[in-house]
Amino acid sequence: MAYQQERRVAVRAVLRACQLCETVRAALVLAETLAKKDKSPVTVADFGAQAVIAHDLIGAFPDDPIVGEEDAGDLRTERGAAIKDKVIQQVNALITDIGEDKVLAAIDSCTSAGGAAGRYWTLDPIDGTKGFLRGQQYAVALALIKDGVPVLGVLGCPNLPVEARRPDGARGCLFVAARGEGAMMRSLADATESPITVADIADPARASFCESVEAGHSAHDLAAQVADRLGVRVPPYRIDSQAKYAAVARGDASIYLRLPTLAGYQENIWDHAAGYVVVTEAGGRVSDVHGNPLDFSLGRTLRNNVGIVATNGKLHAQVMAAVHAVLSLAP
Ligand code: AMP
Ligand code: MG
Repeated sequence: MAYQQERRVAVRAVLRACQLCETVRAALVLAETLAKKDKSPVTVADFGAQAVIAHDLIGAFPDDPIVGEEDAGDLRTERGAAIKDKVIQQVNALITDIGEDKVLAAIDSCTSAGGAAGRYWTLDPIDGTKGFLRGQQYAVALALIKDGVPVLGVLGCPNLPVEARRPDGARGCLFVAARGEGAMMRSLADATESPITVADIADPARASFCESVEAGHSAHDLAAQVADRLGVRVPPYRIDSQAKYAAVARGDASIYLRLPTLAGYQENIWDHAAGYVVVTEAGGRVSDVHGNPLDFSLGRTLRNNVGIVATNGKLHAQVMAAVHAVLSLAP
């Protein structure tokens, strides 16, 4: 098995970050006075999760750069002092021997530019911040990219039902996939991994599709037109974060549409790399809306791609034809 040590370190780091996020979220639920629009809980969890994961990666792979969403600039200001104290407190609950300097340095270590050569990690400490604040779906997403190709993906989804058909049952899943070795799922609570595969559906009328909750992140109206053309009968499954890739990978849905709302928007590599490995290793396919493969080799964004279409593979050509028809008619 390739990347065994990387996989072990990455899974442990993501599990710890999930624990930190859930601790912060539980406090958020309890704090009745806290307005949902208040960004500070997500900020504490974001920085804290990034610190824990970066700390673990630096310890195990000191030469690997990290491309992450956050830096500690704001925490070093007077305005950020209160948040900084909370971040350090949360990180200390998981890593006892770590002081302020090391926490801030870990957060600041994620500013790599990415690119085509060598290996680096990409991290979204909380993907789906809006879902996190709503008490819905979010993901801790970590991937290893080698020579521009994602080769290992880990997605922690602390609030995702372990079984999609039991939405009120146990929650908290982790997805992990290494290139060429298939995709696995486990619950956060139990280390037993099981293989997952995409839905075995070739008839789009039997398919379901997922998309962002946020209409600003993916065009709901255009996706509805794509679904209509395909003859999809069920309403969209709307969930935040890369949990959408997880849903396609284990067959809860067979299509993930991310249709641009904003001309020129460049997708960030940390919003897709982990999900990309999990879906492709579960037997699915991922492209942009033009059918082009995702190009992770260009730096921090997928600047040569437009939007995202992920499917179970069997449906990809039909979905691409419908997407093409709808987008070429769109004003
Ligand atoms: P989702 O959970 O699918 O709504 O996606 C969350 C991600 O959307 C965030 O991590 C942002 O980086 C990203 N995002 C922000 N603005 C846009 C946009 N205009 N189009 C697509 N994605 C966006
Ligand atoms: Mg994100």
